[in-house]
This record gives sequence, C-alpha cells and structure tokens, in this order.
Amino acid sequence: MNCPKCFSKVETVSFGEIEIERCLGCQGLWFDMLEKEDLVEIEHSEAIDIGDAQVGEEYDGLQYINCPQCNVKMMPMVDKDQAHIRYESCPICYGTFFDAGEFRDLKEHTVLERFTQMLGILRRNL
Ligand SMILES: [Zn+2]
Ligand SMILES: [Zn+2]
Repeated sequence: MNCPKCFSKVETVSFGEIEIERCLGCQGLWFDMLEKEDLVEIEHSEAIDIGDAQVGEEYDGLQYINCPQCNVKMMPMVDKDQAHIRYESCPICYGTFFDAGEFRDLKEHTVLERFTQMLGILRRNL
C-alpha cells in the first residue's frame, strides 16, 4: 500500500494488538475500520504518531484523495469534538487517514476529557 497523500510506501507499526500503517514519507497514519476508535482508548498509544505536526499541517490541506485500498474518493471529515482535526474517511472500507500529529492531538483531548469526567464523578460523590 502507498500513502494516499504523498504516495510514499507505508510501514506497518503495531501497538499492543493493533496494527496500523504509517507513511514513510509524510508519516501520516492509516487506520482500518474502527482501529482508530480502539487505539485512541489505549494508554500511551499516541507514541505511534511520531511525525512532525508541521509536516502534517502541510498535508492537511490535501483533502481530496483516493482510498489506497479501494481507489475511490475519500470523504473529508472533521472530528466531532475537535473541529480543527480534519481527516479523510473511505465510504467503502471505512479506513481513515490522519496527518502527522493529528492522532496525538485527538488523543490529548480524549485523555483530558476523561480526566474532567472523572473529576465530575468525584465531585458528585463528595
Ligand atoms: Zn505520506
Ligand atoms: Zn477504502
């Protein structure tokens, strides 16, 4: 498989039991269906997003790309909680592509949110 944005080769990287594809060029991340949802829940999984967020930002503008698996146009999406995180999703295989740094960004928010929820629960129990 080649990267849908910069067309470099991708390598398989694994975190726990989850394997994802990372581009050797722009270091964007490819997630198969639901892998992103699973991975975001695992502690320290942001370590797989080693890319430079600045490079990611450059590629972020490139939103009309084809799915590297199905070769159909992917749909530009925004994260429901963080509108500045834009990614692409395939309407057929539901794979998603995140530019370098975006998964880290997504993850930070998730951790913070969980922390705030926890504080809320603590407060309620006091
Ligand atoms: Zn790439
Ligand atoms: Zn696809």
